[in-house]
Order: sequence, then C-alpha cells, then structure tokens
Amino acid sequence: MTLQEKVGQMTQISIEAFLKTANGVPVEPHVFDEAKLKTAIQKYKVGSMLNVGGDAQTLSLWQKRIETIQKLALQERLKIPVLYGIDAIRGNNYTLEAVLFPQQIAQAASFNVAMAAKAAEIAAYETRAAFIPWNFSPVLDLGRHPAWPRIWETYGEDPYLVKEMGNAVVKGYEGSAAIIDRYHVASCLKHYMGYSMPLSGHDRTPAWIPERELREYFLPQFAAAIKQGAKTVMVNSGEINGVPVHASKHLLTDILKGELGFKGFAVSDWQDIQYLYQRHKVAADNKEAVMIAINAGIDMSMVPTDFTFCDDLIALVREGKVSMSRIDDAVSRILKVKYETGLFEQPVGDANDYPLFNSTEHNRLNYDLAAECITLLKNEAQLLPLRKGTKILVTGPSAASMRALNGGWARNWQGTNSDETERGKNTILEAIASVFGSENVAYSGGSTFTEASGIKDAVGKASSADVIVLCIGEDSYTETPGNIDALTISASQIELAKALAATGKPVVYVLTEGRPRVISEIEPFSKAVLHTYLLGNEGGNVVADVLAGVINPSGRLPYTYPRHTNSLTNYYHKHTETSEFDPAAGYNPQWEFGHGLSYTSFVYSGLKLNSSELKAGSPLRVSVTVTNNGKVAGKETALLFVSDLVASITPEVRRLRGFKKVDLKPGESRELTFNVTSEDISFINSDLQRVTEPGAFKLSVGGLNASFNFQ
Ligand code: BGC
Repeated sequence: MTLQEKVGQMTQISIEAFLKTANGVPVEPHVFDEAKLKTAIQKYKVGSMLNVGGDAQTLSLWQKRIETIQKLALQERLKIPVLYGIDAIRGNNYTLEAVLFPQQIAQAASFNVAMAAKAAEIAAYETRAAFIPWNFSPVLDLGRHPAWPRIWETYGEDPYLVKEMGNAVVKGYEGSAAIIDRYHVASCLKHYMGYSMPLSGHDRTPAWIPERELREYFLPQFAAAIKQGAKTVMVNSGEINGVPVHASKHLLTDILKGELGFKGFAVSDWQDIQYLYQRHKVAADNKEAVMIAINAGIDMSMVPTDFTFCDDLIALVREGKVSMSRIDDAVSRILKVKYETGLFEQPVGDANDYPLFNSTEHNRLNYDLAAECITLLKNEAQLLPLRKGTKILVTGPSAASMRALNGGWARNWQGTNSDETERGKNTILEAIASVFGSENVAYSGGSTFTEASGIKDAVGKASSADVIVLCIGEDSYTETPGNIDALTISASQIELAKALAATGKPVVYVLTEGRPRVISEIEPFSKAVLHTYLLGNEGGNVVADVLAGVINPSGRLPYTYPRHTNSLTNYYHKHTETSEFDPAAGYNPQWEFGHGLSYTSFVYSGLKLNSSELKAGSPLRVSVTVTNNGKVAGKETALLFVSDLVASITPEVRRLRGFKKVDLKPGESRELTFNVTSEDISFINSDLQRVTEPGAFKLSVGGLNASFNFQ
C-alpha cells in the first residue's frame, strides 16, 4: 500500500461532504455530488464514511447510496470496501420506518439483558438492511451526573448494570460467528472513557477523575466488552485531569491496547482531532493535532468534512514525526475489522435478505421491551390501574408528542422531526383514547415546556374528569445543545402541576424525560408517578396499557432520582455522605437506584449462603426465595448488594453485585441463586491494583441480610 492509501484507510468523512445542497442544506431526498465523492475515494483513498447528513432517508435510498460508494471503492487498485458507520443507537434511527426502540437508559430500567440483546439484534438486522455494517453503539459511559445531557444514552449509574447490559448488547449486535454475518454489525464502544462525568454536568467540559476512580468505575465495562470481542472503540471528546483523551497515550495505547489487549481500532469522535487545536489548545495547528492524536493511539479520524487530516498525516510521516510502524499498526487494525465484518466477501447487501425490516415481529418486541422499562415510582392508595370507564383528562406538553417519547437520535440528531416522521405511531394521548375510549378522554395542552400558556383551559377541563394524567418532562435534545443550568423541571410545568393540584382531582404524573429533572416541589401533589424515560415509538401504547392494568410495570430506576439540585449523590456513595454523618443534607434522594413498584407484591424469604467464608477460587452460593403474594402476575427484579465493611479505600455503603428478573404468577415462588466470587467484591486500591481485602462483608437482597468473611 502507498502512504496515501494507508492514510486514506485511517480517514473517515461524513456523508454531508458529498451531498448536493440547496441554500446550504442537503436536497431531499439526498443526492450525491459524484465529483466530490470521487475526490474522496479516487484522490484521497478514503476508507470510511459516516452519518446521514441531516434527516433520515428511506431504506432503498440507503441501499443505493452504499452501492454507489462501494462501486467506486472497488474500482480502486486495492479493491478495499469503504466501512460505513452510523449512529443506530436505538434501532436504525437514521432509516425511515426502522423500529425506534427505547433509549438505553430505559432499556437499563428493564434489568432484562436478554431482551436488550434481542433489541440489539433487531437493530443490527435493520441497520444491515440499509447495507451499513458498523454501529456507533453501545454507550458504555457511566451515567452518574444527572444534569449531563447524554445521561439517557447510558445504561445508568451502576458499573455492574452497565457492564451486563453492554456485554449483552455487543453480542446482540455482533453475533457469535468469527466473521460477522449479513444480519449483524460491528459495534463501537463509546466514549472511551470518563466522558460522562464533566464536573459541571455540561457536555464536553472538563472532568477530574483520578486514575483509581477511572479504573474502579469507568473502565471495567469497556474491559469486559473488549474481552468479549467488541470490534471498535470511539474516544471521549472531553478532557480528564487537563488532558484531552484524544491526546492521551496513557489511556489509548498503554491501557486500551496494552493492558486490555484491544485488537480492534479506535476511531476519534466527531472533529476531535481538529478540536485539539481549535478548542482544547494543546496543539498550535491541525498538523500538530494530528501528530499528537495518532501518536497517542487514535487509528481513524472522524475528520469529518475535509481532507486536511490526509495531507497533514502524510507530511508528518515524511518528516519522521509519525512512524510508519504506527501507521501500519492503525491500518492493519482497520483492515482486520473490515475483514471481520464480512465486507470483503459482501461489500453491499441483497435487499431481498431483509423481509423482517419494520415487521410486526420487530415492533412487537419493541412493545414488549418498552413494557419492561416503564417504572412505577409512586402509587398512593393503589390509584393505578384505573378502572374501565374512568373519565381522564390528558394534559401536559408531552401528552401529544412523539418527539418527547423518542428524544434525540431519532430521525435526526436532535430528534426534532419525530412528530412528522412517526405520525403513524400513538402518542400518549392517542393511546389512552384508544384504550379507554375517546368518549372518556379529554385533552388540553396545559402548557408547553417553556410557556404556561394553556393552564386555564386544562383546569377548566379537569372539572369533568375523575383522574388527570399529566405528561411532563423534557423535549428532545442531545449532546451540547442539551446542556442545562438548572436540573429542576421547567417553571411552566411546575405552574401547571400546581394549578391542577388545586382542582382536588387525583393527578398521575407521566415523566417523559431523558434525565431525572427534580420535581420535589410538585411530587407531593401527585397520587401516582410513572417514569417513561424515553420509551420510543411504543411508549404511548405502553403508558396507556399500564394505566389500564394490561401491563404490570416492572422497571426499576437505573439511576438515583435526586430530590435536590445540589445533592446529586449516587447510591454507591460513601458513609460520610449519609444522613448519619451529614444530618443536615445527607443522601436523601427522591427515589433510590433500583426503586420501582408493581401492581402486585413480592416477599423474599430463606436467604441462605452455602458458607460464611468466601475463598478465592470458590464462589459463595447465595440462594433466596421470592414469592408473588399479590393478586396479579408480575415481574420482579431481585437486586443483590454487597457492602465491604472495612477497606483501605473508604468503602461505598453498598454496591450492586448481581440481579435476576423473574416472572411470577400470583402465589408462585421461585428460588433464585447467585454466585459471588472474590473478584466480584474486589476494588482498586491506592496502588491501582485490583484487590479483595480480607475481612467482613454484608450481603443484602430483597430486604434480607447475611454476613460473610473473605480470607
Ligand atoms: C457523538 C458520537 C457520535 C458521533 C457521530 C458525536 O458528536 O459524540 O456519539 O457517534 O458524533 O455521529
């Protein structure tokens, strides 16, 4: 390969650089500017492309555009197909009609890894149907900062839950064959690592994370997915401890490729090599930025729209500032992934291979998954489920909005067009009207997310209702445009909730939000609260079916729901953060991690450990019986927590070390067993070593406790 050919493989250009535009926006449906595409492939030998270039396109247009790209690539001397990557982060969102699943945060609330894996498999199928073999998913960032605008792209705040979900989903995307088949895609673990904890909570602002904490909380989920064979990794756009991660040889080469033995390739995030000089100011110009990033260990640059990366990297190699061995390493990693993705055998797909695209079967799984995600946070005096014939006022800014149900990364990046593109799907209002009968349902907008404009109308209509269903939360956003400077839910929604409370009618809050907006001021005015996160296209149906009792909710919070904006403590906080030692303002969230109610009740009994001593190499066997002692069938997630009572690094109050979800009929019992190994209860000590220190531990599940020792 010539140097130009090698550097081309390391270059990724966004599709918008090749689209015909009118008045600065792509012509719809998209049309290639073939001269520009030829420049990329024939002159610069570009090896990878990404993105949609604006709004989602039809399946057949996607197929045609990938065919056009590959045809040109295969006319080149080396006949290396282009690796196309896309953010199909909750289904193949950038292809019209593809199934829009719940966002990751909602999927985490299901605590159902098998179902999340199945959804990933369908997402892979529908992405491959568009002839795209590479998915920029899953996000394995730890969702610990509730204000961060990408919290809903994560699997929540717990490292173990993130790891379990991540492993299952990578398997769902990639399948288990050595060469990925035509129904699966290469995954991309992002954003390696520590991206999710900016001190300010604002996207792409500095994080301060000591290496011990990085290794304890942020690294294990990446390590596990890499061990399982995940093909690619996307790098954190931010800085940690003053070092942009795109410039960190320690994180990218020493840890990722050295310690973790990662054999795939690392792609930069959007424009992040250029940002090293444009934003982070650790390089004087683009050329220095390219040198720093490639020498740090970035293998592919998401440039995204020009060829400066190619020109500068070629010059750097010629000047000896980037070694040919570094280039060869990056290129062989990329070619290996292209080979393992089956691209050399089948650079484009066959449109006839995907009869299940947007099928009833795929949509059914979407409903079933969303039904396991929705979380009942409060249900005073068993107000829910509602009787048939109940007169319902449906109100609030998200009641008639597909946009609020789907959030960002829908049919465009910010999710702004879901009301037009998802017209065929039910909003919460439409679904409630269909389940309870339109004669029983009244509607009033009530307010928007920002304006308290329709409150009088809503209050007026409340007089003839038995129950008010108030749908509040957030409109769609993602990344930096979603930054906020106050976590409290918006003032217009608070005003609406207070006015409705004054009517004296029972109010059910339906929260449609990507992050836990503080509602402590209005929570007391609700009789029931349903958390829907961002449930996707089946969200409306699922809300209505929960209200009607067709679905018995079984979701559990995958994060701590804060009560106060300045108390954003996670459940695995330290003892000094508890109210025992901070009586004035210690840990006192609105709802705890793992909280979630059901229409039935469960009791736990007979917690047993096979020994009171845990030894290395011989796991502790824990068993417990869970019984549905209520009147309806229900699903229960048993959460197993372990507390290290004394340790050389201040121990957290407790950590999740296992979970299991079971489906139980009324009166039915099931014995659950867990294995706890010494590795499971280990931690990173001050020498950055993973250790399990001898001593006493407490284990708890379903409110029952047991003790054991490790020696
Ligand atoms: C995001 C990534 C995404 C990439 C490509 C970036 O802005 O941070 O998560 O994969 O764009 O669209």
